Amino acid sequence: MELNENARIDTSQIDDQRGSGGGGGGGIGGLPIGGGGITGIIISLVLAVVGGYFGINQISGGGSEPQTGDNTSLSQECSQSDASKQLDCRNVLYVNSIQDYWKDAMPQNFGDPYQPAKTVLFSRQVNTACGAADSGVGPFYCPGDDRVYIDLTFYQQLADQLGAPGEFAQPYVLAHEYGHHIQDLTGTEATMRRQQQRDPGQQNALSVKLELQADCYAGVWAKNATGTDDGSGQKIFTSITDQDIQEGLDTAKQIGDDTLQQRGGGQVNPAEFTHGTSAQRQQWFRTGFESGSPKSCDTFKQGAVS
Ligand SMILES: [Zn+2]
Repeated sequence: MELNENARIDTSQIDDQRGSGGGGGGGIGGLPIGGGGITGIIISLVLAVVGGYFGINQISGGGSEPQTGDNTSLSQECSQSDASKQLDCRNVLYVNSIQDYWKDAMPQNFGDPYQPAKTVLFSRQVNTACGAADSGVGPFYCPGDDRVYIDLTFYQQLADQLGAPGEFAQPYVLAHEYGHHIQDLTGTEATMRRQQQRDPGQQNALSVKLELQADCYAGVWAKNATGTDDGSGQKIFTSITDQDIQEGLDTAKQIGDDTLQQRGGGQVNPAEFTHGTSAQRQQWFRTGFESGSPKSCDTFKQGAVS
C-alpha cells in the first residue's frame, strides 16, 4: 500500500481530542472489562474490535456530552512534506478515502445522499452520545452522534496481542466502522435493533449479520480505494497490493469470535458469537472485495449467513 504524498490531507474530517486530557472522568461505568491481565484484555478486545457497535451497548449508559477537540497540532503535522509517512496523517487519509468512496457509492447504491461522519481520535477515555468509553472497548461507531471513535494505540494491541501486525489492518478497522455509519444511514441498524427486541433469542445472530455486513463494506471500500481522491483530483492511494488485501484478511481472521475465544483460553461457544467466526469474517471481507459492490453485502438475506 502506498499513499500519494501529493494528496491533500483533510483533517477537518477528524476531531482530535487527544490533547484534552481524556474524557473528563466519566469513567467506564458498567463496562464489563473482566478481570485484570490477559483475560481482561481479550474480553475488552472482543467488545472492541468490533467494536464497533457492539461496544456501544457495553459503554456506560446515558449519553454524556460529546466534547470537541483541537485539531491545531494535527493539521500542522499533516501539512508537513513527509506527512503521509506519519501514523496520524495516514489515518486521516484512510478516513478521507473511505468517505470519498461512500460520497458517490451511497447515492448510487442506496439512493440517499452520504452524510459525512467525523472520526474522533482520543486517548484513554472519551465521552460520547453513547456514553463514556475507555480505550479498552476498542474502536467503535456511535449512532447517537454519528462518529467513529478510535484510540490509535489500538493498532499496537492488534499487532502485539492479537497477531495482526499488518498495516492494512488500520484502514480495514476504519472502513469497518464506517460500514456501521452506512448501516445507520440506510436504516439497516435501526431495523436490526427492532428485530433484536422482537426476538431476543436472535440477538447475537442478528449482531453477527450486522458485523459481517460491515466487514463486507470494508472489502468493498478496499476494492475501490485506489479510485478515491482528495477532492482536488489527487488520488489518495498510488497502490494497494495483494499483500495488503491478505493483511486485511489476516486481521479479519484474528478478530473472529472463535479465535478470540480460543485466545482468551476459553471454550469456543457459538451462542456467544456477536461478530462471526474467523472464516465468516474473512469470507465477507472477500465477498466485498471481489464484487466491489455494496449490493453484494446482504448478510440479512435468508440463508446468507448460516
Ligand atoms: Zn463492528
